[in-house]
Amino acid sequence: MFIHQYGRHNINKKDKQAVLGTLASDFLTQGPKVREFEDALARYAGAKYAVAVGSGTAGLHLAYLAAGIDNGDEIITTPNTFVATTNMMLAMGARPVFADIRADTWNIDENDIEKRVTKKTKAIVPVHFAGNPCAMDAITKIARKHNLIVIEDACHALGASYKGKKIGGLGTDMSVFSFHPVKPITTGEGGAVLTNNKKYYDRLILLRSHGVTKNKKGENVMNELGYNYRLSDLQAALGISQLQKLNHFIAQRRKVAGWYKKHFSIISEIQLPKETEGAMSGWHLYVIRVNSRKRGALQTFLQKNGIGVNYHYPPVYGHPYYQKIGFRAIKLSNMEEYRRTCITLPCHTFLSEKDIIFIASIIRTCLETSFRLKIS
Ligand SMILES: *Cc1c(COP(=O)(O)O)cnc(C)c1O
Repeated sequence: MFIHQYGRHNINKKDKQAVLGTLASDFLTQGPKVREFEDALARYAGAKYAVAVGSGTAGLHLAYLAAGIDNGDEIITTPNTFVATTNMMLAMGARPVFADIRADTWNIDENDIEKRVTKKTKAIVPVHFAGNPCAMDAITKIARKHNLIVIEDACHALGASYKGKKIGGLGTDMSVFSFHPVKPITTGEGGAVLTNNKKYYDRLILLRSHGVTKNKKGENVMNELGYNYRLSDLQAALGISQLQKLNHFIAQRRKVAGWYKKHFSIISEIQLPKETEGAMSGWHLYVIRVNSRKRGALQTFLQKNGIGVNYHYPPVYGHPYYQKIGFRAIKLSNMEEYRRTCITLPCHTFLSEKDIIFIASIIRTCLETSFRLKIS
């Protein structure tokens, strides 16, 4: 167990009381708390509709279904993401087409998208990596020009904003969120799809619950293949309580990022993450980059000192399964450079400036002693 994990949930007494209150109510599965949570989410992000689901992965699957993604469609996305983004494309029979990442934000490179558009392209799925918004103006423009659907994988980005608007409220076709414990807020497992489009909303609602609706006679009928992707009222009660603290959580995370910036400023060996103009990150993750020859030693040194480190992400196309199904020839140059140099440091709401000073001093000591770098 490392004292400083890369992420950590924040549950207090109010959260616990909210869940206990629901346990004593008539609804354990989807009920009034889910509705209340959806309304609060939509209001928070500035979207017309929110549909709560059992996980971010379920949300992605439902969004692709609602968008009418079909067998053989191509979807342009980033390799710097969790596998669920593209796994659910494969579940639809669609083919992920990977664009390279930017060298500064490590988000999808908006200038590498258009050349990958073909007659089969149906959608673009940008991922706001680490909670740092993608260049959505440019991406939306390309989508409009080629008549493509935009579904944001916003699993990292609840509470982040782009040009003054919250992620989830940008008016793209749909945006998908996750409430897994390391994410900005948690419901244990959970997720949501936000949209302004009534047609998508109706389909999301239908497919979330088996594709079953009531006919004119009040009988339950199934007209479409649906799933059980519902969230429970127990989880929604936790979500409502967590959402009330989101702005505070984001403020804490932004403080942590600020401290890293301050205390890393003297270590020129390190490349820090960048917020581009108009983008306000929620800092779901804090990733830095170091010379690939030094990364291994740095990891060992950090772990020896009780600081947990991770790598977000190895490129999706490099996973054995993806290699096996035909992505072996793909190597994107910025992504390949990134995979050798990225390292995820702790970033969560319990960290103090003292912790960050400690982490920075450990990194500095490692670089000085292992590589005889003089840092002053
Ligand atoms: C966490 C995550 C998901 C999946 O969310 P779950 O709630 O764990 O199913 C999808 N995409 C990205 C980018 C994520 O980080």
